[in-house]
Amino acid sequence: MSDPSPALRVALKTRIVVIGAGQAGLSSAYHLKQLGLTPGRDFIVLDRAPAPGGARQYRWPSLTLSTVNRVHDLPGLSFAELAGGDDSVQAAVAVPRYFAAYEERFGLNVLRPASVSVVCDTARGCGSKAIAACFPPRG
Ligand SMILES: Cc1cc2nc3c(=O)[nH]c(=O)nc-3n(C[C@H](O)[C@H](O)[C@H](O)COP(=O)(O)OP(=O)(O)OC[C@H]3O[C@@H](n4cnc5c(N)ncnc54)[C@H](O)[C@@H]3O)c2cc1C
Repeated sequence: MSDPSPALRVALKTRIVVIGAGQAGLSSAYHLKQLGLTPGRDFIVLDRAPAPGGARQYRWPSLTLSTVNRVHDLPGLSFAELAGGDDSVQAAVAVPRYFAAYEERFGLNVLRPASVSVVCDTARGCGSKAIAACFPPRG
């Protein structure tokens, strides 16, 4: 009998892999793009969360834009530009919305959910790396 949920095996060849699409990963991807690299070709961004927002999507419901310390801007697009001025919105809603719009604006093509489990040298000396990422099967 065949496996009902076979692992998806995809081989991607790219120069750079950004692991995680939180504040740090998105900022890195932005700067890679500013350097002239193309997302999806010269670099890829992998994120294990099912949706944009990094750690911010898991903030407690009572944390709103009026109670966060401040939402630090990602490079190239201010949070205020998208927030709409309503301080009662939950941070766990507003920040993921901002990150999603950011990914879209800069065409970062984040691959998710993709959980990186292994990073290793494949050819010592030439700097080539292999990354194993698990993409759960879609139902
Ligand atoms: C309780 C608390 C309150 C905070 N309040 C504020 C605030 O009010 N204002 C503020 O500016 N900052 C606040 N911060 C800080 C802010 O949340 C962090 O600085 C920010 O999230 C760090 O961004 P990051 O990209 O480094 O990590 P994260 O946001 O954690 O993003 C990491 C990303 O990597 C992905 N990832 C992790 N492991 C893997 C893997 N193996 N494979 C693939 N993907 C992976 C995750 O899914 C995630 O999307 C707060 C932090 C905490 C803990």
